[in-house]
Amino acid sequence: MWMWVNGELRDAADARVSVLDHGLTVGDGIFETVRTTGGRPFALTRHLDRLTRSARGLGLPDPDLDEVRRACAAVIEANPMELGRLRITYTGGLSPLGSDRGNDGPSLVVALGEVTRRPDTTAVITVPWTRNERGALAGLKTTSYAENVVALARAHAQGASEALFANTVGQLCEGTGSNVFVVLDGQLHTPPIASGCLAGITRALAVEWSGALETELHLDVLEHAEEIFLTSTLRDVQAVHRVDGRELPGGPGPVTAKAMRVFEERAGNDLDP
Ligand code: PLP
Repeated sequence: MWMWVNGELRDAADARVSVLDHGLTVGDGIFETVRTTGGRPFALTRHLDRLTRSARGLGLPDPDLDEVRRACAAVIEANPMELGRLRITYTGGLSPLGSDRGNDGPSLVVALGEVTRRPDTTAVITVPWTRNERGALAGLKTTSYAENVVALARAHAQGASEALFANTVGQLCEGTGSNVFVVLDGQLHTPPIASGCLAGITRALAVEWSGALETELHLDVLEHAEEIFLTSTLRDVQAVHRVDGRELPGGPGPVTAKAMRVFEERAGNDLDP
């Protein structure tokens, strides 16, 4: 496996960043996960825009997007695979043993892993922990993901593949690595960015392509929504068939099935929508 590490392509066995990298010591970094099909990245421009927004939100220098594109192309070429996930990581870089950043500049690492197709439907749980919609990191795709790791482990322990968070005022927000959509009286809704969720790229495309409304929703909509689905780079549009103890009708409902179809068609026809 070949990876891009700070300006060069390296075999994963010799790919190194410092043990004092801020990304490791204090979780000061940002990332993107980009799906590739047949060696072609999907929605790379949108991912790079979000990388820049996350860098600015965290006070990191703007990433050199030409270098990031070159790095992605080099890693894709060096690791041929049908379905892949590019992982772009950009961190605060080398620091002394403290929480101030050093002066050596950020680290850029790009790696590629294989992915298998997800099932069309999945089970989710809700968790009692909240997303802080007013926090400094709200809406940024940072490497400080430990809270998501804890929530996802709870989901896995309960036979689910995703955990959903409310925000601090009890509104439905997002999953550990996905956005959420619900159907109420036949109309598709998703929480607004102000709920504290990540501005998911799949979410934005699903809103554009399926006409979902951005609506503040209480967490308890999950108890009566007619349909629920998740969106993310690795799930695309994935129906939910169980939320906590509640079973939804098996198989994607009509609104979800249509959103899946539209997404597949349009994403298949336009790699950089
Ligand atoms: N929300 C969180 C917290 C995520 O980490 C992700 C993706 O990793 C998403 C939502 C979905 O975003 P995207 O569709 O851009 O993958």
